[in-house]
Amino acid sequence: MSTDAMSNAALFERAQRVIPGGVNSPVRAFKAVGGTPRFVQRAQGPYFWDAEGTRYTDYIGSWGPMILGHGHPEVLAAVQKAALDGFSFGAPTEREVELAEEILKLVPSAEQVRLVSSGTEAGMSAIRLARGFTGRNKIVKFEGCYHGHADALLVKAGSGLATFGHPTSAGVPAEVVQHTLVLEYNNIAQIEEAFASQGSEIACVMIEPIAGNMNFVRASVPFMQRLRELCTQHGAMLVFDEVMSGFRVALGSAQSVYAKAIPGFAPDMSVFGKVIGGGMPLAAFAASREVMSQLAPLGPVYQAGTLSGNPVATACGLTTLKIIQRPGFFEQLGQRTRSLMDGFVKVAGDAGVTLTADSEGGMFGFFFADSLPQNYQTVMAKGTDTFNRFFHLMLDQGVYLAPAMYEAGFVSAAHTEQDIADTVAAAANAFRQL
Ligand code: PMP
Repeated sequence: MSTDAMSNAALFERAQRVIPGGVNSPVRAFKAVGGTPRFVQRAQGPYFWDAEGTRYTDYIGSWGPMILGHGHPEVLAAVQKAALDGFSFGAPTEREVELAEEILKLVPSAEQVRLVSSGTEAGMSAIRLARGFTGRNKIVKFEGCYHGHADALLVKAGSGLATFGHPTSAGVPAEVVQHTLVLEYNNIAQIEEAFASQGSEIACVMIEPIAGNMNFVRASVPFMQRLRELCTQHGAMLVFDEVMSGFRVALGSAQSVYAKAIPGFAPDMSVFGKVIGGGMPLAAFAASREVMSQLAPLGPVYQAGTLSGNPVATACGLTTLKIIQRPGFFEQLGQRTRSLMDGFVKVAGDAGVTLTADSEGGMFGFFFADSLPQNYQTVMAKGTDTFNRFFHLMLDQGVYLAPAMYEAGFVSAAHTEQDIADTVAAAANAFRQL
């Protein structure tokens, strides 16, 4: 840190001169909620401190990765040791093998895994592999699910079910998204219709099984079951994007949650990120040996990365994955997260504010609505202004929630019962002022 501490506002002003919008990823700019982004100086456990020295209880945790909280001593030690041994080699290391073994042990649907550096890269590579494996071009995604910013995935629904999507970003040619079909989440009739009309051309259906990019919305069990049946019947791959839900909603990720409800359930391919890197740039995609052997150097689907399997990142991820396997870890995390959401619903009710909430493991969402939304349209239908006011009332009390209504929240193992109780008390205060 420089000796002359700058305010958040002064830093934001300075940042905007040299970085577009002052941020290196758009949601950090507080555009949805307004106000000045907090520039983080340091973090420890469930807290971070901004440039002005103000402490915040952090319910973002770097958008998911920090499941152990910040600066966990064992993770820190592993990272420091790895850094001393070298930052990057561009040659294989034992630790990559160990991390791959650990991921596969926890994800029985997959037999092999390839490590990459970001969720975007993993999702993009998974789609290329699904297309290469099936020899088909079309892909299906759902409105409100985010799978990174690869061109073919920056797309919104076309005017009708039979029509393909429109780019949601400038710079993406219409031709690039002409193979991407965007459907409504949890809508069984739409997915049945799509497979009935073009099932033989669909390479894969990509889905966030428990979506964290339209606040927190679960795919219903009947919807997931039907999706699985249709993919199998038509030879399309079911690709689970578990970048956010992976090792976060349960030790076995969201797929283990659906496998409990649907006997024998498994996706054909899984995409991971966030928690598997523990806060370092690391992501992965995984599938059966048959599918993964289509990748270079074995097969015709090209995929590569200078920093893939980075030795410092793998040390961070591996240690994180080992710690989350300790007895009782997810029970306690799930219980803390539930008590946060139960607390919100209770104190909102006391203040006469309509609120619903849901959570799984260490991931949560709440809505200023009387029932849990099932798709993007209903998430976005109401509550934006109320959320934005609530966000700032919480921020003013030192609680850092996602700065947009369409994002999920995260609790870490470092959040104590007292932290949760303090946050619920702050929420009670905020709800009374809404
Ligand atoms: N998939 C999902 C479900 C995500 O939540 C994200 C990021 N929030 C991504 C993919 C992209 O990951 P990254 O930001 O690491 O590229």
